[in-house]
Amino acid sequence: MKPLLHHVIRERPLLADGAMGTELMHAGLEQGSSGEAWNLTHPDRVLAIQRRYVEAGADCLLTNTFGGCRIMLNRHARADMVAEVNAAGVAIARRAFGARDGYVIGDIGPFGGLMEPYGEFTEAQVRDAFTEQARALVEAGADAIIIETQTSIEELRLGLSAAKHAGAPCVIGSMAYDVTLDGSTFRTMMGVDPEQAAAFMAANGADIVALNCGTGMDMTRARQAVERYRQTTSLPVMVQPNAGQPKLVNMRVVYDETPDEMVRGVKPLLDAGAAIIGACCGSTPDHIRAFRRAIDEHVLVHRGEGA
Ligand SMILES: [Zn+2]
Repeated sequence: MKPLLHHVIRERPLLADGAMGTELMHAGLEQGSSGEAWNLTHPDRVLAIQRRYVEAGADCLLTNTFGGCRIMLNRHARADMVAEVNAAGVAIARRAFGARDGYVIGDIGPFGGLMEPYGEFTEAQVRDAFTEQARALVEAGADAIIIETQTSIEELRLGLSAAKHAGAPCVIGSMAYDVTLDGSTFRTMMGVDPEQAAAFMAANGADIVALNCGTGMDMTRARQAVERYRQTTSLPVMVQPNAGQPKLVNMRVVYDETPDEMVRGVKPLLDAGAAIIGACCGSTPDHIRAFRRAIDEHVLVHRGEGA
């Protein structure tokens, strides 16, 4: 049987994939429509994106289910299709690996609103939505579940608990940090810092602590986050930064960090102890291919040292 994700990364670092959202846009998804629905309506296009990440060397694929909970799908009048959308997401990622034994990570993004007393959603609604999605991903055979782009401890707690209760073989919590205005540090939009997040995740059943996306979080900031996580917990760390900062060019959001620029940050991340490295918004299979080479070199050097 394939070893559990959080066990295998104690032996060697793994490579995750790059962006899905921006790649879906390139494949013709219109702004504001449901990328997750494409698992049912355009599975071939989702598969083609994920195959390119596998060909680039990714060991892990995140399912195309970021907005696949009932509350998010309801915005596209597809709340009744949670099970189908998520099962198809797992099946497509599995197919993208072909004969390779990669790790399919079931992706759960934010539910997209605020909970009481700040917003209109009750805690029970959010818990039910995450639980339903997590069950669908686990039943379809996901190797892990990632609760990602999280900014609040309350929502993170519901996500982690939904993944645990669904029986996910491995549970990952991933926060989105923003660099503060004075540039001195970073924390989530809701004011959570890396130490708080890591301690909370360790105490609430996460197997891997992670960060992804965020504002102003380049590879250097990502390394600082890894260091702060590692000072707080012994859990393995996963990192998926954006490919630079978003810029509006001809009414389109573009990310400007090239594979050559971004890959310079990979070795420092590995030296800081990152166990899974991928990338978020704006990254492409070319970024992931560059990361593959950097990770392989790092592993070789460490074998040479007899480490
Ligand atoms: Zn992102």
